[in-house]
Amino acid sequence: METKRVKIEDPEHIRQEDLEEAAAVLRNGGLVAFPTETVYGLGANALDEKAAKKIYEAKGRPSDNPLIAHISGLEELAPLVEEIPEAAQKLMKEFWPGPLTMIFRKSGLVPYGTTGGLETVAVRMPSDPIARKLISMANVPVAAPSANLSGRPSPTTADHVWQDMAGRIEILIDGGPVGIGLESTIVDVTGEIPTILRPGAVTMEMLEETLGRVEIDPAILGPMKEGIKPKAPGMKYRHYAPKADMTLVEGEMEQVVRAINRLARQAMGEGKKVGIICTDETRACYPAGIVRSIGIRAEEETVAHNLYAVLREFDDLGAEVIYSESFPGDQIGQAIMNRMTKAAGYHIIHVL
Ligand code: AMP
Ligand code: MG
Repeated sequence: METKRVKIEDPEHIRQEDLEEAAAVLRNGGLVAFPTETVYGLGANALDEKAAKKIYEAKGRPSDNPLIAHISGLEELAPLVEEIPEAAQKLMKEFWPGPLTMIFRKSGLVPYGTTGGLETVAVRMPSDPIARKLISMANVPVAAPSANLSGRPSPTTADHVWQDMAGRIEILIDGGPVGIGLESTIVDVTGEIPTILRPGAVTMEMLEETLGRVEIDPAILGPMKEGIKPKAPGMKYRHYAPKADMTLVEGEMEQVVRAINRLARQAMGEGKKVGIICTDETRACYPAGIVRSIGIRAEEETVAHNLYAVLREFDDLGAEVIYSESFPGDQIGQAIMNRMTKAAGYHIIHVL
């Protein structure tokens, strides 16, 4: 199949005709990749089991890994779910539209092909104006995981999507680079106490402020222990994986820089192609290796924004090992470290 690329010149003034064909493709069971504020999504009609199946095929994604249904207005939620718990109402009011996904008990309308066989459904209302308009014009809820091949870093630019999906989907809507750069926060609101299944830009601190108490799925915090099943089925896969062996180095900054330089020299001595992930603040401290700044340490949103692009670049450059600085695990750092520790296969060195 030939993939058509549609460029949106001005996301503030989207022309109806730019999205008409894509909306029709979605309505008729085809695949459209489009920007959201988190990462690029690979969309299909969430109510059409056959369409959802195409997403799994295009991504090479295991079919027990459920999809998030995206809506364009609050009134589109009720038909998809059995009930809207009080916690969900508070969160919708505070964070929708935005980078927050909630897990509800599903209604009969939502096929198991979308939910990976689960009785629950994940729903999000994105804030990105292109995403919103496309979903609203399609006039169906849109199931949309990240528009990358399974196991690759999530796409944060249209070019990333093109690398992975050209020839596999009908249309790519190019809306430029995304804003946030990490996937949405996922909160399960079906139980007594709302539980974070995946950290994101809506942070645990923000959720606690709105809800009082929230729990966090233990699968987020460390490597999965034998026998513990993560509540978000997708978390069990080695997501976000760069091709290189990645090691995170944490501790006092000066020691971290020294350790990374030592490890990098050693690996280069063994003839390996070495990547280093640092920040603007430390860029000048690394004399050797392929050195990339991931953003400004003092502004962690920039780190979230650049993380996947940097990992992809190291893939493209053929880096064999990557040594990376690490970040504090609070606020948006929790989401950053969740993705980074997974990318590193939980290989973390602590220096004193
Ligand atoms: P992605 O679309 O690639 O961002 O991944 C979607 C994530 O949402 C995966 O980790 C899924 O496991 C999770 N998810 C989707 N639906 C559900 C659900 N019903 N219950 C728990 N987790 C879900
Ligand atoms: Mg994904």
